[in-house]
Amino acid sequence: MHPQEISILSPCSSSSHEAEVDPRKDPRYQGLFCPDTIIEPFKVKVVEPLPLLSREERARGLKMADFNLFSVPAEEVTIDLMTDSGTSAMSQAQWAAIMQGDESYAGARSFFRFKEAVQDLTGMKYVIPTHQGRAAEKILFTVVGGKGKAVPANTHFDTTRANVEHSGCQALDFVIPEGLDPEAEHPFKGNVDLEKLEAWLNENASRVPLMVLTVTNNSGGGQPVSLKNMKALRELLQGFNIPLFLDCARFAENAWFIKTREPGQNHRSVKEISQEMFRLADGAMMSAKKDAFGNIGGFLALNEESIAAECRNLLILTEGFPTYGGLAGRDLDALAVGLEEVVDERYLCYRIASTRYVWKRLDDLGVPLLRPAGGHAVYIDARRFLPHVPPSLCPGQTVSVALFLEAGVRSVEIGTVMFGRTLEDGRQDPAPMDLVRLAIPRRVYTQSHMDYVIEAVRFVFEKRSRLGGFRISKEPEALRHFTCSFEPADWDPLAI
Ligand SMILES: *Cc1c(COP(=O)(O)O)cnc(C)c1O
Repeated sequence: MHPQEISILSPCSSSSHEAEVDPRKDPRYQGLFCPDTIIEPFKVKVVEPLPLLSREERARGLKMADFNLFSVPAEEVTIDLMTDSGTSAMSQAQWAAIMQGDESYAGARSFFRFKEAVQDLTGMKYVIPTHQGRAAEKILFTVVGGKGKAVPANTHFDTTRANVEHSGCQALDFVIPEGLDPEAEHPFKGNVDLEKLEAWLNENASRVPLMVLTVTNNSGGGQPVSLKNMKALRELLQGFNIPLFLDCARFAENAWFIKTREPGQNHRSVKEISQEMFRLADGAMMSAKKDAFGNIGGFLALNEESIAAECRNLLILTEGFPTYGGLAGRDLDALAVGLEEVVDERYLCYRIASTRYVWKRLDDLGVPLLRPAGGHAVYIDARRFLPHVPPSLCPGQTVSVALFLEAGVRSVEIGTVMFGRTLEDGRQDPAPMDLVRLAIPRRVYTQSHMDYVIEAVRFVFEKRSRLGGFRISKEPEALRHFTCSFEPADWDPLAI
């Protein structure tokens, strides 16, 4: 047995959800080195220095930014966990592919390489590159959306919802109830509530142009969808003649969860599982800034010729000619390689284990978290973290600011700041949950970086009783979290 197979099997199956596979009990492995440590399956070739500022310098930066971490220059951030989007480290093979980029306007070699990689995975006929995921959404929903229509999903990601609604169409979520409860334990919290969907379709199917399935379910905490749920969904939709589209930014992480958590899937390769996921769908949109290790990029893939033709016409209007769609040829080459690398199980084993590692250590410290660990991020439940700060005073913002001030760790508030709104009398209408997301960029940070993050959270958690809330002192009309200003609510965050 090859040692790599052992490392895939052994430590990756230790969570309560994962199939119990202990290779040390298998006679074939006896006497072989079977480590508990999951190592990064790469070594470092190029280094980028980390900014290491003093608390005083960060305090100054925070004041300048009106306590909005989106306004803090990245040069002041030591560990940046704001997003896993576009922040991946590319491999030597990707950088080598970049040198082979073909920058021809039409019919570039790079496009055909990219198309082949997308088709190998998805099996879909038409491949339309875009500069990122939301460009694919905008084009698709301009073609199929519109007034009077409705698009159901497990949970729409915010840009997807915005693009569906921008077309005049309704966007509705049908995730299972466990998917909305931060404390519920369920191996596939991204699953669709099929009964609820069917009941709704019985009344509304005629105005549904397609259904979106987000894998993994980003807005629900990076939680996966099971193959069983996907198959049943497929069957249900076929009965109504409704096409299924995957929003597949993290398809490989989803396939890894299927492999390790779903009965009967452990013997299959992640690539095979991914291919099956795509075969169950009629189309896919991808933000290639996630599981394709791209710093930019996306695509729309589908089988229906007439829709593809309309989408390509719109693409020419805003993105560019259909063989580059807003990207440089070299980007397409890097993405083609990334799509192959991401289904490498040594990588996925490390990826999911490193997220779970942070989650488990914080859970052991008693830090309130969204359960279980997601694929790309760990979510702190700020309402339980700061029970003395009311949701109207944005407890997630407090945790986020404190992590940055004390340790230079940048996270993102996903709660009242992002999804709440200011009422006419100036009070806040809070969001359903106040979370702080620690998103983990792919292949960028090592375990010691994560140990530092864990210490930072512990430090802030220990002084939590001294932390207060924040008021929003100035805000724009829409998407306020990016640019609004904050004021501490009767306390001095810099002095505690
Ligand atoms: C990131 C993301 C998008 C949007 O993609 P961009 O590349 O940021 O435009 C859409 N859906 C999901 C699930 C995402 O995670």
